[in-house]
Amino acid sequence: MARERLYLFDTTLRDGAQTNGVDFTLHDKLAIAKMLDDLGIDYVEGGYPGANLTDTELFAQERKLAATFTAFGMTRRPGRSTSNDPGLAALIEAKADAICFVAKSWDYHVRVALETSLEENLASIRDSVRAAVGKGREVLLDCEHFFDGYKANPQFALACATAAYEEGARWIVLCDTNGGALPHEIEAIVGAVVKVIPGTHVGIHAHNDTEQAVANSLAAARAGARQIQGTLNGLGERCGNANLVSIIPTLKLKPEFADRFDIGVSDAQLKTLAHASRTLDEMLNRAPNRHAPYVGESAFATKAGIHASAIMKEPATYEHVPPDAVGNRRKLLVSDQAGKSNVIAELDRIGIKVDKDDARVARLLDVVKEREAIGYAYEAADASFELLARRVLDKVPNYFDVEKFDVSVEQRDNAVGRRITVSLAVVKVKVDGETLISAAEGNGPVNALDLALRKDLGKYQSYISGLTLTDYRVRILDGGTEAVTRVLIESQDEAGERWTTVGVSPNIIDASFQALMDSIVYKLVKSGAPA
Ligand SMILES: [Zn+2]
Repeated sequence: MARERLYLFDTTLRDGAQTNGVDFTLHDKLAIAKMLDDLGIDYVEGGYPGANLTDTELFAQERKLAATFTAFGMTRRPGRSTSNDPGLAALIEAKADAICFVAKSWDYHVRVALETSLEENLASIRDSVRAAVGKGREVLLDCEHFFDGYKANPQFALACATAAYEEGARWIVLCDTNGGALPHEIEAIVGAVVKVIPGTHVGIHAHNDTEQAVANSLAAARAGARQIQGTLNGLGERCGNANLVSIIPTLKLKPEFADRFDIGVSDAQLKTLAHASRTLDEMLNRAPNRHAPYVGESAFATKAGIHASAIMKEPATYEHVPPDAVGNRRKLLVSDQAGKSNVIAELDRIGIKVDKDDARVARLLDVVKEREAIGYAYEAADASFELLARRVLDKVPNYFDVEKFDVSVEQRDNAVGRRITVSLAVVKVKVDGETLISAAEGNGPVNALDLALRKDLGKYQSYISGLTLTDYRVRILDGGTEAVTRVLIESQDEAGERWTTVGVSPNIIDASFQALMDSIVYKLVKSGAPA
């Protein structure tokens, strides 16, 4: 049986931009549009031309995208003609391949929010779609509050949808704007709509307020809708939009959908999904959700020893899809529950071959257990584990020695009489018999220490120049008589690769220092720096 085409519509740059704390620049928007295009998304909704400066600029320029670049905006205002509505004119004149109008489809909203008649709402839909189609644009109509509207007044909700369809709109998008609909309701209502408008012209736009936006989108596809709208990482106001990062692999890898539908994302593009998801988080300066389905760092992580030995033999025993299909990787956690098989599997992954009966494996396991007992957390700190393993197996060169460091914190009035706190760090390192002293000021003691430590490492400087710290987490552990501090530092190199290191001490500066040192040494090992 021939597979049907199912289209993906991304609204990260429009609905996703409504997220609290998200403020895309023009540069961000262009970069994200390119990333979505590279991923094979069919439609990229760029924003709302005329509503703000960024979006107006975005739609003023030409882009070279394979995706259908879509402008979003309102249908003509009630009581105006299409030629006498500046908002509609800006939308129709925007440099866009398609126009997505949003219109009310819930009679209650038409009366209360628009304060107009149901007939005028339908006329506004017809006039706006006709005007945009007349300009040669592909047209979509977002039926706002469609599912709530359908429950209240199915005739009117359907009349809004068919008004646009009859005027030549390519897609009628059914929106669960409040996000409260459930999958069985979506399936039933979409099923009723596709009896009137062909499913090849029906889309679904779901919000995640009951955490079922993904399920609702899939339910709509099962019922006949052939366009799914969503955002990367489920970005969007309140609880977010349907998460395309979960929907795409489900459509590609689960036979129920993969056997029925073709989407624009190829197998090769699917392998870049995890990277795209993390890149967006990086642009937003957010820590990626490690428990995100398919792409999270923990999505294919296994802890207990017996599971690990089974996974080594046959991955399908504990994995619903192969991690590399989405660009993720299998991770066997090294923890105090770890058995030998975990350790060997993890060593294998980082490229250290060792026989399972090698006495050093048992020793490494003992060291891991001892250190985890005093607060180290290797399952969260892959790079520190690798260094520890290489050390126990005698494989880490002593690149440099930190002979001493000194960190001070000072509070004083600055030149304009404002109270400020500054930190100064001085670090004395020995590289190749030569002593180097560096000092740096930072906004805090750890920042100052980090800057001083990385300022001058002699012949190793070129290896660490692309190193940046991307996350710093502190946790106070209850260590019996006195509390100890665990610091986790996430670093990134010039190629975008990330790793995490750990330090533990009663003193937060010391714990941070250990984690910083591990990060630098790890980078030197990874780059093959000469000893
Ligand atoms: Zn929305």
